[in-house]
Amino acid sequence: MALRSIVTIPDPVLRRKARKVTEFGPELQNLLDDMVDTMREAPGVGLAAPQVGIPIRAVVVEFGDEEDESVPPKLFVVVNPEISRNSQDTVTGAEGCLSIPGYAGDVDRFTGVTIRGLNRHGQPVRIKAEGWLARIFQHEIDHLEGVLFTDRAERVWKIEDEPNTPVPLD
Ligand code: ZN
Repeated sequence: MALRSIVTIPDPVLRRKARKVTEFGPELQNLLDDMVDTMREAPGVGLAAPQVGIPIRAVVVEFGDEEDESVPPKLFVVVNPEISRNSQDTVTGAEGCLSIPGYAGDVDRFTGVTIRGLNRHGQPVRIKAEGWLARIFQHEIDHLEGVLFTDRAERVWKIEDEPNTPVPLD
């Protein structure tokens, strides 16, 4: 297990467009393992490679069932992820970001998305995500474009000012 430091604003790596992954060797495997460890330690529900200072297109997401806490969280490791389909409907919800500590914001996101990408070995994967899982993937993929939730938020506040709002962090 190896933890990496989470980069916070205003580090410019968070504003770069991340480059596509083409090599699936040990360096990528180590990075992905470290990203999972770092996400769990934070704790967070997702992490994008630029958040540990590496501007490549890779994300990890781990999130349980919204309604049933007895369902164990599912881990997704996706390389070169893209939103291939999205719902017509959108929904506003509270988001935070491990790279913007202490703040949350109301962000409008698609209620459902289909993600296409590659797994850690370079094989194609397709994930249908709804609800919070869809929100997390949209937040992570934004990181690969250098977009932060505060760019999209209708309203941003300090978490300490509204401590009762649940804010999943990535
Ligand atoms: Zn984030």
